[in-house]
Amino acid sequence: MQSLDAFAGEKLTALDAKSLRRRLKPTRRHDGAIVERDGKRLISFSCNDYLGLSHHPAVRAAAAEAALNYGAGAAASRLVTGDHPLLSDLEKRLARLKGTEAACVFGSGYLANTGVIPTLVGPGDAIFVDALAHACIWAGAQLSGAKIVKFAHNDVADLARLLEAERPGVRHALVATDGVFSMDGDIAPLDQLSALCERHDAWLLSDDAHGVGVLAGGRGSGALFPDAKIPLQMGTLSKALGSYGGYLCGSQAVIDLLKTRARTLVYATGLPPASAAAALASLDIIQTNPAFTEQPLAKARLFTRRLGLPDAHSPIVPVVLGEADAALAASAALEGQGFLVVAIRPPTVPEGTARLRVAFSAEHADADVLRLADAIAVLRKAAA
Ligand SMILES: *Cc1c(COP(=O)(O)O)cnc(C)c1O
Repeated sequence: MQSLDAFAGEKLTALDAKSLRRRLKPTRRHDGAIVERDGKRLISFSCNDYLGLSHHPAVRAAAAEAALNYGAGAAASRLVTGDHPLLSDLEKRLARLKGTEAACVFGSGYLANTGVIPTLVGPGDAIFVDALAHACIWAGAQLSGAKIVKFAHNDVADLARLLEAERPGVRHALVATDGVFSMDGDIAPLDQLSALCERHDAWLLSDDAHGVGVLAGGRGSGALFPDAKIPLQMGTLSKALGSYGGYLCGSQAVIDLLKTRARTLVYATGLPPASAAAALASLDIIQTNPAFTEQPLAKARLFTRRLGLPDAHSPIVPVVLGEADAALAASAALEGQGFLVVAIRPPTVPEGTARLRVAFSAEHADADVLRLADAIAVLRKAAA
């Protein structure tokens, strides 16, 4: 198919010209936040394994034991034969952690959002989405067929104005946001969003992919706002929990509806038992070691203080450099000094805000955090 290859080739050339082409780089991950690329060992500040639990001996043993006992895969949709009992154990634990009646586990966080949102809203409804919300929230919104209304990032007044204008014309309204923003590390004003949602009979969905396990003693960003009512608490098992999979915590009625209607649950293979077992082992560690869960944020604050940046709110700190090639050059310079800090470019982040996204882990030594901060200070001075 000449036209097909010509199409792909032209797309790639155009991306190359803008420094926006991406390439896979085979990477081995070791414990201690060490990664290996091209035979070179680097200290990674780009993994979302905030507690190092993907390599924790108890978590690995739980995954290995489940794989040996129950097999490597789930073999079918959860509604057929793929609903291993470990999945309901995990759902009970997640619901307890989040203080909800029930929970539903999905194959990934991406599958959770793209399954949950279209189950709850559709044509004739509206979904209000924070401008910087994660790509899978936008994908879920598009799949739903509901009217999509974008509100300015963390801007409660903008959302209030849009709800006043749009809410009366639709049947149901959903407000969707990241709890911790994946590329900026800031936190949604969930208390104010919750109050607005109550006033307008809108349903609040918070995506806590980067909060669970590392904020509020591991309970996540929602727990930072005791008065917030968040009926839809989504998250992932793939980051601080060191495993794979996604979840939604909510009321029994909502969870029952998802389990019969969410297309990414009905028509996709269930989560492998080993992933559930690993997540359960991680939850044991998180819930019995609240001080350990505060480590990533403490390292992030050490970094922001050294650089004179505003205090970090989460383990994610953006160092915005502007153009894509500037971010790539900075990343390459840091790699030369033994650090892996991957450059993040559009369309993952808005045009003109390419950046280093620095993610901190309990496994980082303070001395390495300070060394990285000093290396970045030198790069920023050179760029200014
Ligand atoms: C990573 C991420 C997801 C997707 O979760 P996966 O389990 O990796 O599919 C969803 N939302 C946010 C905010 C994320 O950062």
